[in-house]
Amino acid sequence: MLTTLKRIVQEVNRIPVLEDAIGHLVTRVKQTLSVDACSMYLADYQDQALTLVATEGLAKPAVGKVKIGFAEGLIGLVGQREEPLNIEDAHRHPRFKQFDEVEEERFNAFLGAPIIHQRKVLGVITLQQKVKRRFSEDEEAFLVTLATQIALEIANAEIRGALRSQPQAVDQLVSQKKLHGVAGSPGLAVGTGFQPNVRVDLSRWQVRHTDNVEQAIGYYRAAVDVTRADVEDLSAGLAGAIPEDVRAIFQLYNQLLDANSLGREVEVKIKQNNWDAGSALKLVVENYAAQFAAMDDPYMQERAIDIIDLSNRILRNIVSQHPNAQATAERIVTKPSILLAEEVSAPMLAEFPRQFLAGIISIRGSNNSHAAILARAMGVPAVMGLNNVSPELLDGKDILLDGYSGEVIVSPQRNIKAEFKQLIAEELELSERIDLEANKPAITEDNKSLSLLVNAGLSAELELQQQGPDVGIGLYRTEIPFMLRERFPSEYEQYQIYRQILHSAPQQEITLRTLDVGGDKPLPYFPISEENPFLGWRGVRLTLDHPEIFLIQIRAMLKASAGLENLHILLPMVTSINEVEDATRLINQAYHEVSEEIQGPGNLLARPKIGVMLEVPAVVYQIPQLAEKVDFFSVGSNDLTQYLLAVDRNNSRVANLYSSYHPAVLNALATISKLCAECNIPVTVCGELAGEPGGAILLMAMGYRKLSMNAHNIRRINWVIRNVSVTELEQLLPQVLVSHHPSDVFEIVNQYLESKDLGGLTRAGL
Ligand code: PEP
Ligand code: MG
Repeated sequence: MLTTLKRIVQEVNRIPVLEDAIGHLVTRVKQTLSVDACSMYLADYQDQALTLVATEGLAKPAVGKVKIGFAEGLIGLVGQREEPLNIEDAHRHPRFKQFDEVEEERFNAFLGAPIIHQRKVLGVITLQQKVKRRFSEDEEAFLVTLATQIALEIANAEIRGALRSQPQAVDQLVSQKKLHGVAGSPGLAVGTGFQPNVRVDLSRWQVRHTDNVEQAIGYYRAAVDVTRADVEDLSAGLAGAIPEDVRAIFQLYNQLLDANSLGREVEVKIKQNNWDAGSALKLVVENYAAQFAAMDDPYMQERAIDIIDLSNRILRNIVSQHPNAQATAERIVTKPSILLAEEVSAPMLAEFPRQFLAGIISIRGSNNSHAAILARAMGVPAVMGLNNVSPELLDGKDILLDGYSGEVIVSPQRNIKAEFKQLIAEELELSERIDLEANKPAITEDNKSLSLLVNAGLSAELELQQQGPDVGIGLYRTEIPFMLRERFPSEYEQYQIYRQILHSAPQQEITLRTLDVGGDKPLPYFPISEENPFLGWRGVRLTLDHPEIFLIQIRAMLKASAGLENLHILLPMVTSINEVEDATRLINQAYHEVSEEIQGPGNLLARPKIGVMLEVPAVVYQIPQLAEKVDFFSVGSNDLTQYLLAVDRNNSRVANLYSSYHPAVLNALATISKLCAECNIPVTVCGELAGEPGGAILLMAMGYRKLSMNAHNIRRINWVIRNVSVTELEQLLPQVLVSHHPSDVFEIVNQYLESKDLGGLTRAGL
């Protein structure tokens, strides 16, 4: 059964057009299960109805015409109840409703299963039979499994279909499309989708139709000619260097390029279905490649790779001729753009011209993945986790992005775009007002003083430029210089980086965190493959297992601090006291070594302060014991939230469950503040919560007086602090801590912010 099911799903996945795929599906299911009818209905939320979209067994002319209301008949019931319905005699069921067009009078047995994706009913698939009988458990299990497997494909295909059907010239009025992701970095942006350095290959090519068949054939033929010449050059270049029999592989390439084989089929596809050249090539080639790959003979399996490789070469040559190419290798950005990528990385952002970077869309990742933190550090609105959409589909499109709510509008209507631009203007005005008062001290209405520090490291020099010598660094993430290299940076390379940072504010505390790789921050030259990276070899767990890496880093930090007294060393991902003892022993060892090495007048080496990140729940219960061992704590609320709630901070599928405003997280934070006060040990919060207006005021209510955040947020939080009263906030806190849901907390916090005229800082755009 499993093999049959897999085969059907694979066949269906290979069909590019949703309607065709569904048609094939119902035919295959009817055949496989030997039933009298199999049909599929898709939900139309605008019309509140399920439309018959394919059937094998019911009257075909009814397809596309019959719409069954969400509250109507057996189909509606399956959708409403969100569970399968298996009945012997449909006609006798109280909810049975006759739809004459489908001609189902002769069918009695009925089995319907809902098709659900992310809690939303997308449709219903049904089996029907003339005889009166209950479908077997096996049949029911088959249909339910099939429905779960095709749900994602339907969701994907719907989004792709909607995006693909937007011709650029006429989109202004008709085809606006809303997509939902995860809010990554606050702010609103308007721009054109731009995907830099797109890799052109068949697997990523989005099939589409053309209205100029002759031109498509022309592109294809020209591309084949260029490819043939390229292959000949390649083959000639290898003459003498490889054995002649190996060079014979190029003959195969030439045969494939022959107009009578691959070419003929591609041209037929273009003519018959109006596919563009790239799409026709993809459809023909993927079919061939699948056939070769399925053969038992390993030699023939390998040929699938050759066909794909050759076709990718043809595809690139098609693209290079096309004036509106889906992709070109090197692209230049010339107008305000929304950067699109499967996964936005630090180097990608560094390379993108800042003046044109209006917003960011990262298909993968979530609110607290490092790409989002990076976007916030740069003050660029971002939406993450736009699952099921490929960047190619948004490339070149007019886009509105709401970094507060995670909503993206593609090809917006004119009035919506105008409204959006108005909101952006208002936001700008507010931030100008905030900037004017940026240098005032962070003191509340009731005279409580707060210390605001910078989180740095993610965007290399950016934060250092933004920050003056009066602001300390509460968290310097050292991993980025490690991630940007092709090997571990040497002690001297690290020394240079740390020295620049320690000297940027010599009178202020500068906290350098030791290497925190693992989790979602891999090093290209030190690959770690784990089932659960966030629960694995991360932070001090890894560096203590590699004392050579740890010691080089500590030595570089210490050398960089010679003559200064501001170095604070912070240990990430600490779970147990013995990790702190081991790390301290190594830090002491390095301290003695470096002291001896740099002896001399003016080269006094101060002892660094050592601190622990409170980000693994275990350490919340060992604060008094840890406080005896170290000088300070820093709360990593990003990871503390992840580990307390058991929600992967990087996984957009569970992003709605990740919230630092979850009452459990807030109670843990309140406990930490209280215990640290009792132990009389300094504590900072350096997670993202500290840089959010709502988060900052809650932390102040709990007693935190040191908050570390990205440079961009410091001004906003300073503004918030100067307009609130700690006494008032302390009165709100008990209510917050007994709340049931994060949404209740938001309500309390937002009400307070509104009452202080600070609502504009947390407003959602749409
Ligand atoms: C945290 O976990 O809150 C933190 C500041 O560290 P990072 O985001 O780098 O894991
Ligand atoms: Mg962390």
